[in-house]
Amino acid sequence: MDVETFLNDLRAQVSCPLCKSIFTDPKQLPCLHVFCLQCLKHRHETSHDRDIIKCPDCQALCTVPDSGDLKDLPTSYYLNGLIDVLAIKEQKTSQVRCGNCDKESSESFYCFHCRIFYCQECFTGHNKLRGNEDHRVLALKDFQDKDFEDVLKRPSFCQKEWHEKEELKYFCKTCEAALCQTCVLMDHVGHAMVHIDEEAERRKIEIESLIKAQKCSLRENMNTIAKIDEECAQVIQHGENVKRDVQKFVDKLIATIEAKTQNVLASVENEANGTIIAQKKEMENQLALLESSLERADKLLSRGTDIDVVQLSQFMESMFSDETDPLQAADNDPDRLPALVFVGNESLLETISAEGIGTLQS
Ligand SMILES: [Zn+2]
Ligand SMILES: [Zn+2]
Ligand SMILES: [Zn+2]
Ligand SMILES: [Zn+2]
Ligand SMILES: [Zn+2]
Ligand SMILES: [Zn+2]
Repeated sequence: MDVETFLNDLRAQVSCPLCKSIFTDPKQLPCLHVFCLQCLKHRHETSHDRDIIKCPDCQALCTVPDSGDLKDLPTSYYLNGLIDVLAIKEQKTSQVRCGNCDKESSESFYCFHCRIFYCQECFTGHNKLRGNEDHRVLALKDFQDKDFEDVLKRPSFCQKEWHEKEELKYFCKTCEAALCQTCVLMDHVGHAMVHIDEEAERRKIEIESLIKAQKCSLRENMNTIAKIDEECAQVIQHGENVKRDVQKFVDKLIATIEAKTQNVLASVENEANGTIIAQKKEMENQLALLESSLERADKLLSRGTDIDVVQLSQFMESMFSDETDPLQAADNDPDRLPALVFVGNESLLETISAEGIGTLQS
């Protein structure tokens, strides 16, 4: 990783998601999201619930400390260390503010004990004080890799008034609090006390096994979800198959009805055409008979004897009587145009309406 990327990453780590600036007094919520104290206070002022603060990042609800003051939320010492590391890393390009007199300077020093940057003058003043004799102070330009580790591992100091210079070395099991020597002597006499590093070591093991267990159950849940995904795909596929079966059956049903319809339509055509065609044929036959009779009559008339003519006239009377006129007979036939009607199979319709096309069974 090049220096620029490293510094950008570091800057992102120590930037507040709310004000986008480097954290000022980073406070950690139980969801492990961190925000500047002022940013949290500002958010909290506009909220309705005084006892609850909602994480601006993940919306988790967190109880406001008993004191009602958000400054009593846990400080992120780790981030404070990172902020100092960033300032030291960037000292070549930007000036560092003196933690004592606020002067910006490019030649600053860092006291690992006070956890403060000092300008040249304040550095001199700091070293003159007798109580500071054993403080380790380093010019920023002389920082080596291992020194940065020391910045991050630096001790944490009591935040109580007048205790600021005292390291949090103890842990009161009765009050569940990290304490300085003065706290122990003043307010926690008789309480169950251990060294903070001992307590941290014990809790580290606890947390590690908790994280391990949680990761295990997380993995199990992931596996379950993967299995459900698989089953989902199967269920969907099966559903598609069933849908195809339903469609196949309905297609068959429709095809059967369609075939029957075609049969009925064909019958209608046959019936209707059949009757009138037969009548037409009958008529044509009769007309042909009449024609040949007339031809024969013509012949008789021109070649026959007188007797033939007399006999013919007698025949003719019966031949052209109204009843024997085939055209007139056809005209009067009430069955010539058949009064065909269709009577639907109502019970089939009722059955289809009343009954389902099938049932789903498992
Ligand atoms: Zn902020
Ligand atoms: Zn959160
Ligand atoms: Zn200064
Ligand atoms: Zn110091
Ligand atoms: Zn204290
Ligand atoms: Zn205590």
